[in-house]
Amino acid sequence: MKVKRLFQGVKGKKLKVYELGAVEIREKVVAGEFKVREIVDQLLARIAEYDTEIGAFVTVDTEGARLRAEELDAMVAKGETAGKLLGVPVAVKDNICVQDGLTTCASKMLDNFKPPYSARVVQRLLAEGAVIIGKTNLDEFAMGSSTENSALKQTRNPRNTGCVPGGSSGGSAAAVAAGFVPVALGSDTGGSIRQPASYCGVVGMKPTYGAVSRYGLVAFGSSLDQIGPFARNVEDAALVLEVISGSDAQDSTAATEKLKLSGSYPGELQGMKIGLPTEYFDTEGLSSQVKEAVLAGTERLREAGAELVEIHLPLIKYAVGTYYIIATAEASSNLSRFDGVHYGHRCEQPTDIIDMYSRSREEGFGAEVKRRIMLGNYVLSAGYYDAYYLRALKVRRKIADDFSRAFAEVDLIASPVAPTTAFKFGEKTADPLAMYLSDIYTISANLAGIPGISVPCGADAEGLPVGLQLLADNFKDDLLFKASAVLANVGIGVAF
Ligand code: GLN
Repeated sequence: MKVKRLFQGVKGKKLKVYELGAVEIREKVVAGEFKVREIVDQLLARIAEYDTEIGAFVTVDTEGARLRAEELDAMVAKGETAGKLLGVPVAVKDNICVQDGLTTCASKMLDNFKPPYSARVVQRLLAEGAVIIGKTNLDEFAMGSSTENSALKQTRNPRNTGCVPGGSSGGSAAAVAAGFVPVALGSDTGGSIRQPASYCGVVGMKPTYGAVSRYGLVAFGSSLDQIGPFARNVEDAALVLEVISGSDAQDSTAATEKLKLSGSYPGELQGMKIGLPTEYFDTEGLSSQVKEAVLAGTERLREAGAELVEIHLPLIKYAVGTYYIIATAEASSNLSRFDGVHYGHRCEQPTDIIDMYSRSREEGFGAEVKRRIMLGNYVLSAGYYDAYYLRALKVRRKIADDFSRAFAEVDLIASPVAPTTAFKFGEKTADPLAMYLSDIYTISANLAGIPGISVPCGADAEGLPVGLQLLADNFKDDLLFKASAVLANVGIGVAF
């Protein structure tokens, strides 16, 4: 496998099946140019050839995907379907339930868990004619920034296999960059879609909190979690998001309206004001190459008609600390259901009920998950609740107010996605704090609930992709696609 240069043009040339986007696949299936079965077979063959090296998938549903493809082909032949994702193969992060297959969360705790229902997002994909190809690797329970916390396997970055793909949705980002699927789903609690998208050189989007139902997503930090799309171009990401968004009686935090996304983004930004927060560009630890590429990206936004202005988000420096109190508090509560009784691994021959709970959890969870549960229980404990958890909630409110003030002035905010490009395996595993800091630019969007996108804007000297992050006010998700299209509307290209 020979890794290609990022942005190596794909426009105008005859594309191979694995290079096609979701919109193109659907068009070709509708036009009768391809059978769904042919597309699925070609992608399965590519996965079989390369995924031993990349490790994007935890489970590949070869049989299920083929059967589904044939079912869709039969419906097409009878003129019974023309769904928005007709024949489009999708990979799903393995913390999102797909009925009857494994959903492991990359944890020993759930290594044989088969959910009895599919997540709402999966139901919506299927209703529009998508084919679920398989489930992708992640940091255990989505806790991490490199996918190295997976208890099951390692995932390599398709643009440089010596580097991590980012995380926690590293498997989904890698699957899209490698050309295993045109689109994939991830979840983002503090950056887990945007950061791996940036490291792997694909588009990744975290919608406004509530835009997408969390029904069937294994909860990490419920007030922060959102499911969103990965794709190799902006239109595909918008299409998938539109399909999965909308209200849900099973999730009381889901918004009542479906997102209205325009579907076509010509890349003109006249009249749009984009804020560059001083605090995001002066950060210690921001690589100069990343900064340069991001600023070059904003320059292209300006050339497309946007006005760039300097803004301030003074409280942003508290975001990482605030996040690690709130996210761990919520995680400690959410993960209490994995006790060997309600859900999950149960130890052999317990001596009594306490032994059963504690040994099941000791054996089932990895080190990072245990660290989060302990931190979370600490900040929620009677003696420290006011000093930590309650205070963090107040700071969270203030951070959201900072954004509201900014969005009174500007339409979008631009920043780096992460301080560096993809790092080498093992580089940060010994230092959890260094790992936590790779989310410094993404976390505040989850605290405020606002939408954010990561879109490739360049590469560093080693050819590793750099992502540009754009943030918008609540439910202005469409603006993110509109502006990103300037940077990635012709498709970014597969890694090899
Ligand atoms: N990297 C962050 C964490 O470890 C964010 C994870 C996520 O968004 N799921 O918590």
